Amino acid sequence: MQWNSIPVTVTRNPRARKVWLKMRSCRGIEVVLPYRVSTSEVPSILERHKSWLMERLADLETRGQAPGQNPLPDAVTLAFLNREYFVAYGEAVRPELHVAETQLRVLLPGGETGAGALLLQMWLADLGKCHLVPFCREVAQLHGVSISGVRVRNQAGRWGSCSARGGISLNAKLLFLPRPLARNVVLHELCHVAHRNHGPAFKAALRELDPLTDEHEARIRTAWEELPAWTKWRRKDVGA
Ligand SMILES: [Zn+2]
Repeated sequence: MQWNSIPVTVTRNPRARKVWLKMRSCRGIEVVLPYRVSTSEVPSILERHKSWLMERLADLETRGQAPGQNPLPDAVTLAFLNREYFVAYGEAVRPELHVAETQLRVLLPGGETGAGALLLQMWLADLGKCHLVPFCREVAQLHGVSISGVRVRNQAGRWGSCSARGGISLNAKLLFLPRPLARNVVLHELCHVAHRNHGPAFKAALRELDPLTDEHEARIRTAWEELPAWTKWRRKDVGA
């Protein structure tokens, strides 16, 4: 595939100070322009960033996630559960997902890749509720942190969050991480119950609970980039 055959979407963001470029499996190349930059400049912007676009495309291709490549997986490996699930596909009038232990069967109307990605995300969120909620409660109890509740969703941009009332929200994608990394994310949110910012007191508290925090945080950051494309597909991408 050539980078210049990938569909380009141009949007404007009044808060953008400079041009932003992204390439994603589900949306192709996205260019975000500040108001002062004209759309007629897009071809030259792309040309200037050609080497970045080519590198990004090669990287996505090796992971089977380049725009236009089918992002639906044949297998899903969840390190947190130390378990691999196998996915088979078939056709049906409406999207359906059948689960039998570690065998998933996804039925889709012809070519509806996005609908398949959303079905798998719902399955992941359910699985996350089963496993991440008790995990979080256990870690909280072990360290004597009182929380008001735990929710699991498939958030777009973060591993977890903590509300002012001590409600923890965790990303179902944490199931892709090995336990020590997922535990670090949970501990991070638990530390927010007492410390609402990322100041020195917060950092000290987190390092005390997880002495390997620096190493874990670095691995957690790269892990987000390495998540399979289907986990990041949004409802508005369906049909794209
Ligand atoms: Zn935080």
